Amino acid sequence: MENVFAAGGNCLCYRPQKPNELLNRKRRPLSTINGNRRAFLRGSFLNREGRAQEKARQQPLGPPPPWHRDLQLDKYCFNCAHPCITACEPAIILLHPSEHEMTGLPYLDFSTSGCTFCKACVEACPIEIDASGAVLPEIGQAVVNHETCIAWHEIICQSCIGICEFEAITSTYMRNPVVNSDLCNGCGMCIKYCPLDSLTVISASR
Ligand code: SF4
Ligand code: SF4
Ligand code: SF4
Repeated sequence: MENVFAAGGNCLCYRPQKPNELLNRKRRPLSTINGNRRAFLRGSFLNREGRAQEKARQQPLGPPPPWHRDLQLDKYCFNCAHPCITACEPAIILLHPSEHEMTGLPYLDFSTSGCTFCKACVEACPIEIDASGAVLPEIGQAVVNHETCIAWHEIICQSCIGICEFEAITSTYMRNPVVNSDLCNGCGMCIKYCPLDSLTVISASR
C-alpha cells in the first residue's frame, strides 16, 4: 500500500477545517489541565538535561511517614501547620521544598536517622489514622548498590551488618551485604551507617 505521508505529505483522512469551525472550537481552560499533563507539556520543550531536572523535580524525595502511606497527602498537608515535623523525635520528617512538584508534602529523610515507629506523627496529625494494628507498616525496602558498596568489590566492610534490629541485613559467604526483603520494612536506620551512601530505601508501592 502506498505510504500517504511519503507521497506528497497529505493524509487521506485529513479534512481542512472551515474558519468558523476553528473559531467555534472550544479551548480547554488551563486550570482544567491536570498536573501530569502540565508536566508533560513542560517536559516537551526541554533538552535532555532539562528533562532530567524535570524528572528529578517530580520524584518524591523520600517515602511518606509510615502510617500516612495510603493517604492522599495533597488533600490534607498543604493547609496544615505540619505538627508531625516537630513531633518526630529523630527529626526525619521534612517537607518537599518550594521548587519541587510535591512542595509542602512531608517525606522521610534517612540521612541522619531512621524511623522508630513511635507513632508520634500519627498522634500529632489532624488526620484520623488507625495505627492500632499489631503489624508495622512497610515504609519500603532497603537496597544495596553493588556498584558503590566496597564489600562487593573485595574490600572488607561490615558497617551495616548486624545493625538492623529486624535482622534484615546479612552477609554472603564472601562477606557481601544482602538485604532480606521479607524482613526489611524500610525503617531507614541502616542508611547512615554506610560510609559510601550505598544503601537506599525504595518506597513501598501503594
Ligand atoms: S513513627 Fe515516629 S520516628 Fe517514624 S516518622 Fe513518625 S514520628 Fe518519626
Ligand atoms: S501533621 Fe498530618 S496533615 Fe499535617 S503535614 Fe503532617 S502528615 Fe500532613
Ligand atoms: S535493612 Fe533493617 S535497618 Fe535497613 S531499612 Fe531494612 S529494616 Fe531498616
